[in-house]
Amino acid sequence: MFVPLTFFDAIYDYEDAEYVIFGAPFDGTSSFRTGSRRAPDKMREVAINFETYSPKYDLDMTDILVHDAGNSFVSVNVDETLQWVYEDAKQIVDDGKFPIMIGGEHSMTYAPVKACYDACPEKDDFAVLVLDAHFDLRDEFRGLKNNHACVSRHIIDDITKKYVSIGIRSGPREEWEFAKEKGIKFFTADDVYETGIKEVIKEAMEYLNSSHIYLSLDMDVLDPSYCPGLGTPEPFGLTDREVREALRAFAPKTIGFDVVEITPEYDNGISALLATKLMREFIFAREASKRN
Ligand code: MN
Ligand code: MN
Repeated sequence: MFVPLTFFDAIYDYEDAEYVIFGAPFDGTSSFRTGSRRAPDKMREVAINFETYSPKYDLDMTDILVHDAGNSFVSVNVDETLQWVYEDAKQIVDDGKFPIMIGGEHSMTYAPVKACYDACPEKDDFAVLVLDAHFDLRDEFRGLKNNHACVSRHIIDDITKKYVSIGIRSGPREEWEFAKEKGIKFFTADDVYETGIKEVIKEAMEYLNSSHIYLSLDMDVLDPSYCPGLGTPEPFGLTDREVREALRAFAPKTIGFDVVEITPEYDNGISALLATKLMREFIFAREASKRN
């Protein structure tokens, strides 16, 4: 029996699929540790660990129409790569399917967000929720507009002001001031710790007031004790259960999803596993809400 390098339970053809997973193996602007280009294939490799059945939702992954399209073509140039990833994501949404991108670094998120926005029938309702330790609100970083430290800024400037981030705990003074001046809605990791993830979810949900949410999971929102294999790990983060709770709550209102910034080289064996598990929990939660 051969085991292909694909999510083993993403067994449906593209034509039949409702969810299309694809990798964006690019880490060219990573500021600290590179290596997230290896995350998509590492996550495919570790996915074999998980049973296909979800007792929580009484659903089997093999009954959900999921296809693994492989990886987008990338180059050394971030702008060129973003254009190619955009075209791939746009194809998926134009075909009426739900895109799930696996980074790669967070800069890649701009492409599927733009694709989902361009295809969104209710543009005024389009919103973006980011789980991240970092603001990513710089206009440019190290001479690059599309550096991974800038992705949220460009989403807010170019695509939508309906934006919330959860888990923030790192950034230069200018980013904290910029966020406050511009009235950007964010919840720090300490907010989550002090008021509880359920309350933060409720407030974020009310603020976004949208049923066309793109959800971006920068894995460094997690505490490095849960997820050490990261490009820019930041202590005092969210727990695995808090992140799962947020994914489960928002999944029913989403039109696109990504998981980014896993860096297998620095993993001790749990980070890619957790990223894969969270992606699956997201799919189960969204699918369960549709069937009820
Ligand atoms: Mn980020
Ligand atoms: Mn981050």
